This record gives sequence, C-alpha cells and structure tokens, in this order.
Amino acid sequence: MSDAAPTDRAGWAARAASLTLPTGLFIDGRQEPALDGAVLEAVYPADGQVLAEMACGGAADIDRAVASARAAWADGRWRHMAPRARMAVFARFADLVEQAAVELALLDSLSMGKPVADALTIDVPETVLTLRWFGECIDKIEGAVTNTAQEAVHLIHREPLGVVGAISAWNYPLLMAAWKIAPALAAGNCVVLKPSERSAFSPIRLAELFVEAGGPPGVFNVVNGLGPVAGAALALHPDVAKISFTGSTATGRRLMMAAGQSNLKRVALETGGKSPQIFLPDLADLDTAVDAAVRGIFDNAGQVCNAGSRLLVHADLHEDFVRAFTRRAAELYRPGDPLDPTTSLGPMVCRAHQQGVLARIADGVAEGAELAFGGGADPGRPEGAYVLPTLFTGVASGMSLAQEEIFGPVASLLRFETEDEAVRLANESIYGLAASVWTADLKRAHRLVKALEAGVVWVNCFGDGDMTQPFGGYKQSGNTRDKSLECLDGYLQSKSVWISLS
Ligand code: NAD
Repeated sequence: MSDAAPTDRAGWAARAASLTLPTGLFIDGRQEPALDGAVLEAVYPADGQVLAEMACGGAADIDRAVASARAAWADGRWRHMAPRARMAVFARFADLVEQAAVELALLDSLSMGKPVADALTIDVPETVLTLRWFGECIDKIEGAVTNTAQEAVHLIHREPLGVVGAISAWNYPLLMAAWKIAPALAAGNCVVLKPSERSAFSPIRLAELFVEAGGPPGVFNVVNGLGPVAGAALALHPDVAKISFTGSTATGRRLMMAAGQSNLKRVALETGGKSPQIFLPDLADLDTAVDAAVRGIFDNAGQVCNAGSRLLVHADLHEDFVRAFTRRAAELYRPGDPLDPTTSLGPMVCRAHQQGVLARIADGVAEGAELAFGGGADPGRPEGAYVLPTLFTGVASGMSLAQEEIFGPVASLLRFETEDEAVRLANESIYGLAASVWTADLKRAHRLVKALEAGVVWVNCFGDGDMTQPFGGYKQSGNTRDKSLECLDGYLQSKSVWISLS
C-alpha cells in the first residue's frame, strides 16, 4: 500500500521538506558522484530556488555505465533469467513504484513544476501500468517455425539487442523513462538511461526501485548529465546497440548522425509535434469538444508532445467556439503553486523555456495574429517561470504560430470553410504526431482519418488510449512507436536458424 497522499499544500510541502532527493549517478546498483566531481543545480521552477546539486556525468561516466550494462549483458544475469523470474521482478518493481507514489509525484513536481495532483493521478499510475503491461509480455515473446520444404527446419528466434541507451525528455520525467526502460528490459536488454538534466530525480529513484525489486545491478543504469556531453557520448558509444529517444526533433537529427558516425546503432525517435484538432460544424456537442480542446493544450502547461496546439475550427462554429473556449480555459486553468493539490497549471520547466515561449508569443503578435487572451508571464508570480494560458485567433497556416512547436500553453486557432481545406491545413506541417476529428458523421470521420498524416488520430476525443495503442509520429515527429506490442518488437531482433535435414 502506498502511504496516504497529503490533502493540502501544507501537507505536501511538509512531505517535500522531509524527502531525500536522489542526486547521484546510478551505476552498477548504487548512487555515485561523477568521476570528475562535476555537479549541476536542480532548480525549482515555481520559485527559482536551488533544490540540490546533482552529479553531472560526462563521457567517462557514460563509459562506466555502458561497461556495467555490457558486463550484465555478457554474463546473462538478466536475459538468461527464466521468463517467469523476470516477470516476478517486474511485478515487484511495479508494486514498489505504486507504493512510492507520493514520493515519486513529489520528485517530478519539484524538478519540473508539474502540479503534484497531476503527477499523483496521471504520471505515477500510468508508470505502474506501463511496468505491469510490459512485465506481463515477457513470457509471451515468441519465435516461429516457418513452413519450409521437407528437407529443412526453419526457426526464427526473437532475441534482445544488447545495451540500449535511452535518452528522455523532462515533460513527464518518470513516465517517459518508463516508456523507454520497461519494453527494453522486458525484451531482455540492459539499459543506460540519460534522463533530461532538468528532471532526473524520479528516473534515478526508478532505477533504485528496480534493484530493490530484485533486478540485478548493472542491468538498469542512470547517468544524469548534459545532453551535448553525456547524451552525445551515449549516442556515439560503440557498445550501445540502440538509442531510444524522446525529445526534440533537432536532437533527434543529431542522434541519427551520431549513429552514422559510430556503429550504425538503431535510432528510435519520438520527437516533436504540432497536432491539429479539427472541429466540424456537425460535431455532436460543442461543450464536450471545447472541454477536450482546452485540456488538450493546457494540460501540463502545454508541455506535451502531442498537445493539440492547432485548433482548426469551421467558420460556422468560430464565434461560439472562441467564447466557449475562453470561458472553459478560465474555469479550468489558473497558474498556481505545484504543491497545492488544487493547482492545474504549473510553471514552465525553467526560466529559459519560459523566455522561449514568451518570445514565440511575441512573434505571433508581430506576425499579425489576434491575441484573444493570455499572452504573457503571470504578473502575480514573477519569481516563477509561469506563462498564462494563451489563445491566438486569426492565425494563418504560414505563421510561426501554426508551424513551430511552442511547447507551452499557447493555442493557435485557424478558421476553415471546407473539409478539403481542413485536411490541407492539418497536413501543412513538418510534424505528424497526432490529430483529432470532431464530427457526428461516421463517413466523414473515416474519410478524414484516412487523409490525415499522423501516427495517432482521435475521433470525438483527444488524448485517450491504453497500453495497446502504438504511440508515435509520422514525418518529423519520429520513426518509432512507444507503448504497444509494436514498441516491444523494436527492442528485439530476429535470428533465423536454418537446419538442414538432408
Ligand atoms: P531535448 O531534445 O532538448 O532533450 C531531450 C533529451 O535529449 C534530454 O535528455 C537532453 O539532455 C538530450 N540531449 C540534448 N542534446 C543532446 C545531444 N546533442 N546529444 C544527445 N542527447 C542530447 O528535448 P526536451 O526539451 O527535453 O523535450 C521537449 C521535446 O520533447 C519536445 O520537442 C517534445 O515534443 C518532445 N517530446 C516528444 C514525445 C513523443 O513521444 N513524441 C514525448 C515527450 C516529449
């Protein structure tokens, strides 16, 4: 059983004050400082206070962690463990994460300013589900015997890859780490995780809990450090078989080049997005659609890869839509203290990101879009990296507001007249992560689904799904899928065994 969650801000703050923050590199089953003693500061974005100094790993630390994972791979302490035994480790691992829910929620809330209520009710339960789901897959990984001629037997074994290097983003620190390490470990690989240097507390704790659950030391290592240093060293490492990445499209591009410069390791990318939501005049219920639209862009303060940041609204709906959107946003999202369990909108992850989002808003104003509400920092919280929920109307598809991933609470509304125009606008993007269609006409919904260039299309909902759903993008939103059996497949390779009977 997890300990009871505090019910008010004072309770959460008291728990935060008594927390031991995980700050080391986690190599070979224990926390350690960086070899050269380097540290980086963890800053609480809600007030700018330094929370801790964390070990900042460099290339030599990546070498140590990869060597540890490589040794664990070579002696088979994980991949040769019986599937049921590995499943038992996974089941205990998931239970321990569930029991540590309050602590893990706090770690994410402190590191990146996520409202603690979201971390507790979304990130942690989704992480537990991810671990349970991939854990349950372990003894269902099957090879094949193909239908050959009589003089041969052909077996196809499904085998893990070796050492997987996982590089993750800061927007869901615990959950994005779990989306990488759970399928990698379930497939029998060993892992070196390089979490975002802005949010490494919970990934380090996750690795500790794996060992506490009976996972052998060396199988799951974590090296916190700067992207261009530790991340780049992992991407170039000759003993890493695959890089599994969640982050920006720009970094994804570098990782593919690093694979080419080193050992042609596999590179699986989950990158940026600019997801369109299409609202047609025959949608069943405007309030339901608007509620989803508001949540789709302002949840996690818009720091979501599949955020529904482009609202494509039919001209007939436009006026009612803007009115309802403005009202619902004001009801649901007001900036607040992340440790207050009633808060729904926290700060940006850091001051630099806040400044970047504000600069994009200024670009939008300069390009001639109309600012319907928001559009600035929160004047009531100057010490924090807050950005007010923002809506632009009158956005044209060529504007930066419609093309660039802002990764903040900024919605851009584009008006359309015809279905064909909606499809053209939706697909006019380098990204193709997700999209949604709101209509009561089933034929129209299917027509649009077929026409949209996106890895995930929601119909009359936004953001829904479960673990069976392959999650990932078309075009420059990536080349892989998280969650799902398709994802597990990406951490396996086939070995064809041809046996002559003649
Ligand atoms: P980022 O690309 O700046 O960083 C992501 C990770 O890459 C971090 O761990 C960082 O340290 C590392 N990194 C940075 N430079 C590197 C380099 N040169 N070599 C190796 N590693 C390097 O992205 P971010 O700002 O942390 O995250 C936001 C981005 O993540 C957004 O674009 C968002 O859309 C994307 N994202 C995508 C998904 C998805 O599933 N498609 C999910 C969450 C976030």
